[in-house]
Amino acid sequence: MRLSKYVLPLLREDSSEAQIASHQLMLRAGLVRQVAAGIYAWMPLGLRVLDKIAGIVREEQDRAGAIEMLMPTIQPAELWRESGRYGAYGPEMLRIKDRHDRDLLFGPTAEEVVTSLMRSSMNSYRDLPRTLYNVQWKFRDEIRPRFGVMRGREFLMKDAYSFDLDNASARQSYNRMYVAYLRTYARMGLHAIPVKADPGPIGGDMSHEFIVLAGNGESDVFYHREWDANAKYELPDATDDSAIDAFVAERTSHYAATDEMRDESREAELADQIRTARGIEVGHIFNFGTKYSESMGLKVQARDGGLVAPQMGSYGVGISRLVGAIIEASHDDAGIVWPEAVAPFRVGIINIRANDEASAAVADKLYRQLTDAGIEVLYDDRDDRGGAKFAAMDLIGLPWQVVIGPKGVERGTFELKCRATGKREDLSYDELIARFT
Ligand code: ATP
Ligand code: MG
Ligand code: MG
Ligand code: MG
Repeated sequence: MRLSKYVLPLLREDSSEAQIASHQLMLRAGLVRQVAAGIYAWMPLGLRVLDKIAGIVREEQDRAGAIEMLMPTIQPAELWRESGRYGAYGPEMLRIKDRHDRDLLFGPTAEEVVTSLMRSSMNSYRDLPRTLYNVQWKFRDEIRPRFGVMRGREFLMKDAYSFDLDNASARQSYNRMYVAYLRTYARMGLHAIPVKADPGPIGGDMSHEFIVLAGNGESDVFYHREWDANAKYELPDATDDSAIDAFVAERTSHYAATDEMRDESREAELADQIRTARGIEVGHIFNFGTKYSESMGLKVQARDGGLVAPQMGSYGVGISRLVGAIIEASHDDAGIVWPEAVAPFRVGIINIRANDEASAAVADKLYRQLTDAGIEVLYDDRDDRGGAKFAAMDLIGLPWQVVIGPKGVERGTFELKCRATGKREDLSYDELIARFT
């Protein structure tokens, strides 16, 4: 992409809209713009990051055996009356009336919709186990939307739903997601800790929130040092259920809990091995048994011929929140430092003298050759001061920057800077090509 033909609305000054670094940087780097309170437009650069994150989430859901579908954003109140949640959900639900005076809502989550769909799609034990997922916009009329996309009212979520014949099978579906989530966050360069969360009315131990540590996170967590960022563990194969079960049993033996789930006596026993921190909830997995299948009449034929209500679970990843969380975890004074896997472009080319013919020729050629090789490149070909270009490139945080100017053209070497380490190298044109292709 040539910057001279792109839409990248950078801000020179801090915005009074934002109180935390990630929100400030998302506005300054032109990733998002607020359209109404808690409702954001994803500008071109931001959309690329959102898509990268969703792509990783999809790959890991697919790897774990989940099947993608797409449910609508607007849902009929009818379904929520069936489950009994229409009244219970409260003012976070955006309620809408259509022209026929029918009650609709903008979905805050989709248990009711997926259960109603499976009512007519699943008939027997042979149709189980299955896990379906979708990546779709949700709406929750948060009382205090804040921190930009981290607590929006409209936000993008991956929500998955599992259907199993019995509790043992439901646990396997749950454990697969536990592992898939750890792999998902690790691929984004995040250290996420699965902490025991409130399992709700069915009890048991099948609910975990995935928390990324951050000073301005809204969740308090308490965890054993086995969950420190430098504590190493190897993830099992995504579908090897016995390896997965052993892994989850081992990892969950190390204490980690939300505020509501603290076990003070266990913390006292573990004493100085316990850490206390704040963090951002980037995912939540949950088993709720037959709550929706029973109330909404989803039944399948069991092996013995009788009818049975499937055990269900749901599994959410806050995709749009992750954009903020990743920036919160990875930035410096100059701007964002994208991990390669989610960077909007991998390489930025800066032509420091756009009106110098020789420089422009080399920069154009490098841009074309890398782009043709499938490398995502943002090429700053604008006629602007070098200093402003360097600052803009640091702000938007692409992993690699190539600087091209008359001196380099003369010498035949060009500067390559790594955004994360700040390390600079001088490479020949061919070495540059070889580095990225
Ligand atoms: P929170 O505690 O932050 O309000 P939640 O527990 O209400 O989140 P869940 O119902 O567990 O959220 O939804 C699954 C995931 O969706 C969350 O883990 C979070 O990453 C994301 N999410 C929830 N609410 C928002 C929001 N208002 N803006 C952005 N992402 C959100
Ligand atoms: Mg909430
Ligand atoms: Mg929560
Ligand atoms: Mg939650």
